[in-house]
Amino acid sequence: MALTEGEYEFTCDECNGDGSLQYIRAAVDEAGDETDEAELVWDKCDDCYGDGTVTVDDKVAAEKIEYGQTPIRTPSSS
Ligand SMILES: [Zn+2]
Repeated sequence: MALTEGEYEFTCDECNGDGSLQYIRAAVDEAGDETDEAELVWDKCDDCYGDGTVTVDDKVAAEKIEYGQTPIRTPSSS
């Protein structure tokens, strides 16, 4: 799939490319009530919708590159 001009693809930095995130939520007991205990659950990453990659425009891409990320694909490299 070719990128539109001005679009850059990065590994999702929220989930590190996994497409899913582990987070902590309150555990529920058999009655469905929240308990004092926490449990770890996996859920689909909100940033990349489970893809593991995000496609951003050149403005956001410039910011990400400034923060040290390297694009997986750029419009010129495809
Ligand atoms: Zn993600």
